[in-house]
Amino acid sequence: MTNQAKDCLFCRIAAGEITPQIVRETDRTIAFNDIEPQAPVHVLVIPREHHPSIGSLATADPELAGLLMAEAAAVAEELGLVDFRLVTNTGAQAGQSVFHVHLHVLGGRPMRWPPG
Ligand code: 5GP
Ligand code: ZN
Repeated sequence: MTNQAKDCLFCRIAAGEITPQIVRETDRTIAFNDIEPQAPVHVLVIPREHHPSIGSLATADPELAGLLMAEAAAVAEELGLVDFRLVTNTGAQAGQSVFHVHLHVLGGRPMRWPPG
């Protein structure tokens, strides 16, 4: 595995050291259930490679950023979600707690806007 970060939880998932409940996998991405779901559907989509945030990923590898979004949409379709929310937190103040980019796919209940 190239481009892994030491002590990164999602790199450990990508390396197979931790095994979440996987929803979908491709050669470049993994989608798995969040351990602390905030909605009936709460799936995280990550690239196998380590990138800290969506901005750094999109700059370093725009193709992979696009694949990540396509996978999020595929997760929604596979799970029968018509309405869903994609979230990617950047920075601790915005709620980011794992600094390996991930998209939250949230759905299965009405969601408030603005999120607060
Ligand atoms: P963030 O706060 O960085 O936007 O999102 C990180 C997400 O990772 C949180 O929703 C949290 O519940 C989830 N998470 C943290 N540790 C684990 C884990 O070991 N397994 C899984 N499946 N999800 C995790
Ligand atoms: Zn990582």
